[in-house]
Amino acid sequence: MKNKSNLQQLINGENVTGHSETIFDIYNPATGQVIRQMQGASVGDINAAVSVAKVAFNHWSQVTPSKRAQIMFNYRELVIKNSDELARMVSEEHGKTLADATGEVMRGVEVIEFCTAINSHLKSDFTANVSEGIDSYNLRQPLGVCAGITPFNFPAMVPMWMYPIAIACGNTFVLKLSEKDPSCGLRLTELMMEAGLPKGVLNTVVGDKEAVDAILHHPDISAISFVGSTAVGEYIYHEGCKNNKRVQALCGAKNHMIVMPDASMDQACDAIIGAAYGSAGERCMAVAVVVVIGDETADRLIKQLKPMVKGLHIGKYDEEGVEMGPVISQQSQDKILSYIEQGEQQGAELAIDGRSETQRAGYFVGGCIFDKVTPDMSIYTDEIFGPVLSIVRVDRYEEALELINEHEYGNGATVFTRDGDTARHFCMNVQVGMAGVNVPIPVPVAMHSFGGWKRSLFGTTSIHGMEGVRFYTRLKTVTTRWPSGIRAGAQFHFKRGQDV
Ligand code: NAD
Repeated sequence: MKNKSNLQQLINGENVTGHSETIFDIYNPATGQVIRQMQGASVGDINAAVSVAKVAFNHWSQVTPSKRAQIMFNYRELVIKNSDELARMVSEEHGKTLADATGEVMRGVEVIEFCTAINSHLKSDFTANVSEGIDSYNLRQPLGVCAGITPFNFPAMVPMWMYPIAIACGNTFVLKLSEKDPSCGLRLTELMMEAGLPKGVLNTVVGDKEAVDAILHHPDISAISFVGSTAVGEYIYHEGCKNNKRVQALCGAKNHMIVMPDASMDQACDAIIGAAYGSAGERCMAVAVVVVIGDETADRLIKQLKPMVKGLHIGKYDEEGVEMGPVISQQSQDKILSYIEQGEQQGAELAIDGRSETQRAGYFVGGCIFDKVTPDMSIYTDEIFGPVLSIVRVDRYEEALELINEHEYGNGATVFTRDGDTARHFCMNVQVGMAGVNVPIPVPVAMHSFGGWKRSLFGTTSIHGMEGVRFYTRLKTVTTRWPSGIRAGAQFHFKRGQDV
């Protein structure tokens, strides 16, 4: 299939064909067929998007927060009304089940809901009479043109972590979607226009390194939010900072779950199935490692888990009862298969082998469990981003905690236990950005903030919630003297504030 489809960039509210020489093939991973194509964004396209966003900022930054919030109310309605269509777009190009895609869209809606209260989020501190006739207050003001660079695995939710908050804070935005599954992000941009957003405030492009480098080097971009792999995120962070931009880069992960001997085995197994195999393991908050305390607990867990993994309903996103779809691409499938081979060669026990699913058309890999994994194995150290779970057996809770704390990634971790002392100790001492107790994936909701530690996040600010507001605004502290009749006289030395 080499006829170009109608997917286009959305700059200044208009559909425009990209000018890069690269044409992206967009696949349905459940069939392995190319379903759409799209010409990528060139440096010139990025320049055009930034230039209209810069002009739009002059007006948009002066629009009152209440009016911006009103657009967010409209947008929320539209996204909900179109959620079936949006979810179908996600599933068709990503492969995740329709139920999962709908959940992702609704997680994005929660961020929009957070933005409807932008008035309150921008509310500032005011101190009257810091000295005679002098008042001080804080303003949080928008930065200018901000950019977002997003991954394939949440083509609806991750973009919505970024642009609604940036825009609600008064910025304008250039969104660079993943080239693997851009349809939903483009449609979400159209809906933003329908909601009443002025042209040029949100501009959405699809491109690769060429487009990203143009963003990194553009002098009129003030801040960049990135979500994706660690290798790319580290590059974007350093390159962006070198060019004096504010950068937050949320990156890869290897999330651990500890199962204590006193845990409810039913609860733990249900949690593992959803968190390790949901979305075929292609989540930055997927549980990739289960650390089990004691052989007896491990044997019980694996006995209960095996039939559940074997019984996973694998298939196309809209099949009745489907629980797990394919992975995103041939390249991804090959990478996962190579890790499974490495696991076997390095001495882990392949308790469940899902490789027979690769016989289907498309990019399927069945659920796998490796038992007796040790920390030196590549299946333990690396992010596989597929439905491959590693079980590590240790004797004591302290060893499990140390494993997590020594891992290079620090996104999320969770513990299953009925013991409050263990749970509290875990939350206080685990070296990750998102910790959980008896929950499968401790993904913070929209009014809280999402972000990891160590090599899972470069920069200082997590995403969405109040951290998002702080990232997309800068602080100005204003000191004023009124009434005009007060005369303090010339002062040549510093004094305590109250004496000024
Ligand atoms: P990726 O790093 O390959 O791509 C992310 C973005 O960067 C895309 O827009 C892509 O076009 C661009 N890009 C790719 N290669 C580039 C390069 N060499 N130079 C400049 N830009 C480049 O990531 P992905 O495969 O799309 O997504 C999966 C990764 O994202 C996983 O590592 C996952 O853990 C991570 N992720 C992290 C979070 C989080 O919140 N920490 C959330 C979702 C996904």
